Amino acid sequence: MLVVMDQNASQEEISSVVRAIEAQGLVARPIPGGQRVAIGILHNQGPVDPLWLRELPGVKEVIRVTKPYKLVSRECKPADTLVHVGDVSIGNGHHTIIAGPCAVESESQALAIGRLVKEAGAHLFRGGAFKPRTSPYSFQGLGEEGLKILAQVRDETGLPVVTEDPDHEAFDLVEAYADVVQIGARNMQSFSLLRRAGQSHRPILLKRGMSATIEEWLMAAEYILEGGNPNIVLCERGIRTFADHSRNTLDLSAVLVVQKESHLPIIIDPSHAAGRRSQVIPMSRAAVAVGAHGLIVEVHNVPEKALSDGGQSLYPEQFEDLCQQVQVLRRQLTP
Ligand code: PEP
Ligand code: MN
Repeated sequence: MLVVMDQNASQEEISSVVRAIEAQGLVARPIPGGQRVAIGILHNQGPVDPLWLRELPGVKEVIRVTKPYKLVSRECKPADTLVHVGDVSIGNGHHTIIAGPCAVESESQALAIGRLVKEAGAHLFRGGAFKPRTSPYSFQGLGEEGLKILAQVRDETGLPVVTEDPDHEAFDLVEAYADVVQIGARNMQSFSLLRRAGQSHRPILLKRGMSATIEEWLMAAEYILEGGNPNIVLCERGIRTFADHSRNTLDLSAVLVVQKESHLPIIIDPSHAAGRRSQVIPMSRAAVAVGAHGLIVEVHNVPEKALSDGGQSLYPEQFEDLCQQVQVLRRQLTP
């Protein structure tokens, strides 16, 4: 249930509606919007009678939220959410490019890639310090040393950094170094991690699980918002299908559905979707064309020597080319 307040409802009227809802043993969550405040009613078991709410001063209307996700829905908040990371904004009207290696491998590797992606036009730097890998024998990341290197890349290039948190235990550490905390596809339904992310003061990049429906993905985001963190960027990174011509199948229609259903920004990861370098630039163009709010792309200075995901990492010149293509496309598409 959503209580929509009048455009000129006073703060006192908003507070007294919140108190009235809480007096019924329910949870009230004010959601400030561009035009007006709405108050979400959460944790109700079964429908709430809207009649008494409609009579309260300052209330414009009471809407039944029909979807299982509430706070992430457009019904609750019609205006698009913009996520701010330093000077960078992610969301409607912006196209944000996040780039860097799959994993931070050394100081020299990360700094070299940081400099080149900054020069080409990236807005944020990515790099894994903790790498959740399919095989326990594969490179697992440098851990805290990797986080320190990420901080160095930020200091030197001015680019905010995005890095994955693999579990609840490491969250405090990752949060201390990262500007954006990534929750990976494998962890999209790690509910204790989502709850911890809900308490974070950092924006969260929430990847779609490999076999998650859009509803499941939005419910995962709901955990974070319900926990109190409104700064979430969704990331489509391909889903598992029977196709084997790419690592995963990039579901570009997810952009349209998410933008209809939710106010949260959505970006595309063409690298983990494709799994091969040759598909990354064309799929990025498609992502721009469909209206995604940005890209997260793997780039390596020497992909042949990369400790993970070298085969899908762009060469530096390819990344420069991609940034230029994105600019040209955006100019053509912007009315
Ligand atoms: C990554 O971004 O490095 C990564 C492992 O992504 P995903 O969780 O989408 O597989
Ligand atoms: Mn990777």
